[in-house]
Order: sequence, then structure tokens, then C-alpha cells
Amino acid sequence: MNIREKILVIEDEKSISHFISAILNSNGYEALQARTGAEALSMISSHCPDLIILDLGLPDMDGLEILRQLRSWSSLPVVVVSARSHEREKVTALDLGADDYLTKPFGTDELLARVRTAIRHTRTASGNDEIAQQGTYTVGEMTIDYNKHQVLMRGENVRLTLSEFRIVALLGKHAGKVLTYDFIIKELWGPRAGGNNQILRVNMANIRRKIEKNPAEPEYLFTEVGVGYRLAEGELNGRLQISEKGNLF
Ligand code: CA
Repeated sequence: MNIREKILVIEDEKSISHFISAILNSNGYEALQARTGAEALSMISSHCPDLIILDLGLPDMDGLEILRQLRSWSSLPVVVVSARSHEREKVTALDLGADDYLTKPFGTDELLARVRTAIRHTRTASGNDEIAQQGTYTVGEMTIDYNKHQVLMRGENVRLTLSEFRIVALLGKHAGKVLTYDFIIKELWGPRAGGNNQILRVNMANIRRKIEKNPAEPEYLFTEVGVGYRLAEGELNGRLQISEKGNLF
């Protein structure tokens, strides 16, 4: 039996809401629509959706407020929709616990990729930090080997420093999803680190030089301007495991 995943589309603009719902319905999901924040909150409790697509600009309520309320009781995956110019808003949404975002205007492929990624992560990862990954992650000619702590390009070991490896490994663990600068820094260097994106930028530049054919036009490690980084979506071979110590590496 194939159970269709229910996706609640919270969006006040009718044309966009219909566009998103039509794509979801014709790709194996069941779309529900809410036009206001109040309606959305009541539908979340009554319909128990599997995923939420949340427009941040709603008539009666700030989308961020819905997210804040939702995160006080639920880890339901949320993909935020926002205008191109609102980078600060996207970062706030991600830091409040949104899983990813779409920038208007977006296309069918992008929408489906974000939905797939958010659902996959909810299935495989049950917590944020207590997951140790094993096996390999492959995208294009790149493979992350979590057992050997190596990144391979076309089968050849890329000589990464420990920090560089940890960044790639973290992005691989969340592949397809954008990670904010702040999230990466805190995961790598602890909760009190932060504020200094420069170290991360230098590391990323080094990784790109080692991995990308043309670092100016990356195929694997994408910069989301003003927000963070995203690793291209690929295939996970292996498993996600809860480690007893809660350490990722
Ligand atoms: Ca709107």
C-alpha cells in the first residue's frame, strides 16, 4: 500500500498556493491548503500533515510566529517560502528550526527537491546532533566515506584537513539542505563559537579548490548568498545511527 504524504501549503496568494498544490498532487503527495495563520495552526492539529510549506508573508500573522509556535511542540519538517530580497528572514527561519527554504519565484524541480530532502531527513534523522553517520554518501564523482573519514573524487582520496573533512561530512549528512553559517560553526567548533564566518569561508575556499573542477562554478558545494552552504543531493549508502555518546565524528 502506498500512503501519500500529506503536505500543508500555508500561503495566502491563491495562484501560488494552487501552483504548489497542483505540483504536489501530481507528484504523489496530497496537498492541503491554508490561507491564514489561524487556519494553518488549526489545520496542523486537525490534519496532522507530514510536512509544511510555509509562506512567511501572511495576512494575519508573521510566518515566523507560526514557526516559533510550531517548534515549541513539534519537529514537523517545514520548508519556508520567502522573497528573494529577504535573506535575514531566511536565516531567522532556519535558526528557528525551519528545515529549508524556497525563494520566490521557484520552479517545479526546486520545489520537489526541497520537499524530498526535508522528508528524507525526517525519516533518517531523528535528532540533530546525536546521529553518527556510517557508510558512504555519493554525489556525481564525489564520495564521502564516513568510515574512513575521507572524501574521494573519482576514486582518489582528496587530502582534506580535519576541519575541511568535518565541514564536508556535515554538509553530506544534511545534503540537499542549506546549512546556515552559524549552524556549521556551532556544530564544528562548539556552541560558544560563532560570529566569525571568516574561518569557515577560508575552509570552504580550500575545500572547493580541492574538490571542484572550477571553484567559481561549483558542481558540489553551493553558496546560498547571505545564508550558508548546501551540498548537492546524492545517494546515501549505509545507515544513520544514533551514537551513544552523541558524537558525530
Ligand atoms: Ca504571502
